[in-house]
Amino acid sequence: MIEGIKTSERRLIQHKPMSSVEARQPLLLGIDLEDVRDQIPNGHQYPHRLEGNVLRLLKSLKESQAKGTFFTVGTLARRHPELIRKIASQGHEIAAHGNTHTQLTKMTRAEFSEDLADNLSALGQTQSHNVVGFRAPTFSLTPKTQWAYEVLAEHGVKYSSSVLPARNPLFGWPDFGSLPRIVSPESGVLEIPMSLHAKPLPQVPLAGGVYLRVLPLGLSLWSLKRKDVDEPITTYIHPYDIDTDQERFMHPDLNDSKAMNWLMYINRDQALHRLTELMRRCSVWRYCDWVEKWRASEPSA
Ligand SMILES: [Zn+2]
Repeated sequence: MIEGIKTSERRLIQHKPMSSVEARQPLLLGIDLEDVRDQIPNGHQYPHRLEGNVLRLLKSLKESQAKGTFFTVGTLARRHPELIRKIASQGHEIAAHGNTHTQLTKMTRAEFSEDLADNLSALGQTQSHNVVGFRAPTFSLTPKTQWAYEVLAEHGVKYSSSVLPARNPLFGWPDFGSLPRIVSPESGVLEIPMSLHAKPLPQVPLAGGVYLRVLPLGLSLWSLKRKDVDEPITTYIHPYDIDTDQERFMHPDLNDSKAMNWLMYINRDQALHRLTELMRRCSVWRYCDWVEKWRASEPSA
């Protein structure tokens, strides 16, 4: 059985030493760099915790010898240029995550263009020029907002990791498919969708923020084993996902759901450990490097 062969191959790969990374499943490490206080009324009455959380994250990534992509909100970059420079100086990629973390559904095409220009300009002021990646706030790139790809191309962005290819209470693009693809040939922007759990598990992200915290690690590992060996595993984590001491308040963009807000605080002490366990089993990539490799192997390239 093909499935049986795949599983045994996977076991072999998992028992290889850490140095032998080429044959491992690629894991595209994404960190969504935003300060939730910016998105709620009077948010800055709460203490500034972002920097401490980022430093913890950086320390952990250094220990794992992992480099990732920080999808960074523009207003945050303007407020903490030295922090962004520090992240970049450690070899991580800086990419865009909207200037004010506004969902694409709340903007016109022209407004998004302006927002993205401001985002890129803010990143440029931290010496992060030639930004090539983008992630839409709360995965708000859907069939209705796919005009965004052309806007991204107009600003020099080469890839996006903004689609949740499933039904979701907030956003989703259920028939997108699980593999990276160029949606709009005119734009040439490669979309790398969120990796979901394997069926019959719920079709939610395998390694992302709230889902990484709420579902047991065993389920993520089970789903990981069932992916094709060269299918990239996409991830996202926010600095607040590892913050066990943050004050409780209603998080933005959750449709004012108290149940969803409650989940925002679950198992924060587990997030970093679980991410590290996933990274240990994969070869960790910055998005930009993986995209470059993908383009080099593209038949029409
Ligand atoms: Zn975000």
